[in-house]
Amino acid sequence: MLIVCADEARVEVELVGGLLGCPSCRGMLRPWGHGVERVLRCGLGDRLLRPRRARCRGCEGTHVLLPDMAFSRRRDEVSVIGAAIEAKVAGAGHRPIAGRLGVHADTVRGWLRRFAERAGRIRAHFTRWAVALDPELGAVLPAGGGIADALEAIAVAARAWVLRFGPGDPWQIACLLSGGALLCNTSSLFPAVR
Ligand SMILES: [Zn+2]
Repeated sequence: MLIVCADEARVEVELVGGLLGCPSCRGMLRPWGHGVERVLRCGLGDRLLRPRRARCRGCEGTHVLLPDMAFSRRRDEVSVIGAAIEAKVAGAGHRPIAGRLGVHADTVRGWLRRFAERAGRIRAHFTRWAVALDPELGAVLPAGGGIADALEAIAVAARAWVLRFGPGDPWQIACLLSGGALLCNTSSLFPAVR
């Protein structure tokens, strides 16, 4: 799986132009049909995703090009999930958060539980990214433990990304920098910082 920009036309141009690298071997990806259609629940209504598939010329592996609006195996847009995490860090419980976002309470509880389980790894991963993107960056200070520190590291990395590459949604940047795996199970690895 490879996370790409949500702009389908731009992704298509890059794919056809041979500008996308294989996440396994860095070989050139070529178009290879489409992945399974799915509905992404977005803040502004549902959106049908028809992710592009690509095949590597080097290792011949196939990859689904997931837009940076979606985390792997999650049905809700990254900004909706991100809003839930921010509300939790601000002190809200999963039920009020679910009510505000119009998402089932069990779904929100699942996101928050997974984020909390992975908080240490998330913090370490995004701190490495922040430093890689901005070598001038000072220490990333503790924000109050566990999930607050993980969220702070994401915010710092997203700011470093924006300073370097221009405006972007922080949760889409978080999706990109985690290879879509922010809320995957603890055994799945984030892509290495290059
Ligand atoms: Zn490859």
